[in-house]
Amino acid sequence: MKKYSLRKRVLVTGGAGFLGSHLCERLVHEGHEVLCVDNFFTGARANIAHLLGHSNFELLRHDVTFPLYVEVDEIYNLACPASPVHYQFDPVQTTKTSVIGAINMLGLAKRTHARILQASTSEVYGDPSVHPQPEAYWGNVNPIGPRSCYDEGKRCAETLFFDYHRQHSLDIRVVRIFNTYGPRMHPNDGRVVSNFIMQALRGEAITIYGDGLQTRSFCYVDDLVEGFLRMMSNPHGLVGPVNLGNPHEFTMLELAQAVIAQTGSCSQLVFRPLPSDDPKQRQPDITLAREKLGWMPQVQLPEGLQKTIEYFRGLIEQGWIPAA
Ligand code: NAD
Ligand code: UDP
Repeated sequence: MKKYSLRKRVLVTGGAGFLGSHLCERLVHEGHEVLCVDNFFTGARANIAHLLGHSNFELLRHDVTFPLYVEVDEIYNLACPASPVHYQFDPVQTTKTSVIGAINMLGLAKRTHARILQASTSEVYGDPSVHPQPEAYWGNVNPIGPRSCYDEGKRCAETLFFDYHRQHSLDIRVVRIFNTYGPRMHPNDGRVVSNFIMQALRGEAITIYGDGLQTRSFCYVDDLVEGFLRMMSNPHGLVGPVNLGNPHEFTMLELAQAVIAQTGSCSQLVFRPLPSDDPKQRQPDITLAREKLGWMPQVQLPEGLQKTIEYFRGLIEQGWIPAA
C-alpha cells in the first residue's frame, strides 16, 4: 500500500480498452486509487474484471463526450477507438470523442488542478515524408479522407491541450503513441498484429494489404505503460509531445513471416487492396524520450509476439472466441 501522501486519485478514460486496462492494472499495483471511465464501445469488462474487487479500483460507465464531475489528481485521457476498422465505423463519433472528450477532460483538469496526459498518436504525422518521425515534424495528413476523423481529431485534441496549457496554465503531458500490441487487443479489431495472429491460429489465409512492403514499428504494451508513467511524473516539466514507440521497423510481410514461424501455422499469404491513405512507413525517433525520460523499449518483437500469441490461443482454448 502506498503512503497516503504519495497515493493519487487517478482517472483513466478508456480504461477498459487494450492500453487502458494495462495502465489501470499498473496504477492499482502501484497503490493509487484508480477511476476507470469507459463507454465500452471497443473496451470490455473482461479486460478489467480482475481489478473489479480491488479496493483501489472503481469502474464508471460514461461517455467522455458528456461532462464528468469527479475529484482527481491525475488524468490519463485514452478514450477513443484506435483501430482503423473501429474508428471508421462511426467517424463522426470518433471526432466527437477526440475533440469534445478532450474539452471535457481538460475542463475537469482545470477545475480540479489535475495533471492531464493525452494519448495522442503517430497518426498525427499522417503518411510521413520525414523518416523516422521526430516530434518537430508537422506531418502529412489528408484532412478529408477515411482516416481523417481519427488523425484530425487527435491533432485538434493536441491543439486544445497546448491552448489550455498556454491560456490556463494547465499541467499537461502529450505522448504520441506508435503501433502498440499485446494481450487484450480486441481479436476482431482489424489491426495487423491481432489479424495476423488470429488468422495464423485458425489456419486461415493471412491478409496482406497492398504489396506488404509498407512498414510499421511495434511496441509491446508493458513498455508503453512504463513510458506513460515516466511522462506523467517526469521531473523536468516536459509537456511534450513525446514519441513513445519501438524504433525497430518491419514490413508487413516480415511481420506475417514472424507470426507464421512463431505460431507454427501452415497459413498462406493472400494479397488484398491497400486501404486508402494507408501510411507507407512509420518509425518513431525516440531521442527525446530516451534523453528526457530515460525510456527505451525493453521487449522486442519475438518475445512480445509470443506473449500475444499465448493470449489469443488462450481465448480460443477457453471458448471465448471460435477456433475457426
Ligand atoms: P481501444 O479501442 O482498445 O481502447 C479505447 C477505449 O476507449 C475503449 O475501452 C473504448 O470503449 C473507450 N471509448 C471509446 N470512445 C469512448 C467515449 N466516447 N467515452 C468513453 N470511452 C470511450 O484502443 P487502445 O489501443 O487501447 O487505445 C487507447 C488510446 O491510445 C486511444 O486514445 C488511441 O488513440 C491511443 N493510441 C493507441 C495506439 C495503439 O497502437 N494501441 C496507437 C496510437 C494511439
Ligand atoms: N494490414 C495488413 N493486413 C491486415 C491488417 C492490416 O496488411 O490484415 C496492414 C495495414 O494496411 C497497414 C498495417 O498493416 O499498412 C498496419 O495496420 P493497422 O490497422 O494495424 O494500423 P495502422 O498503423 O495502419 O493504423
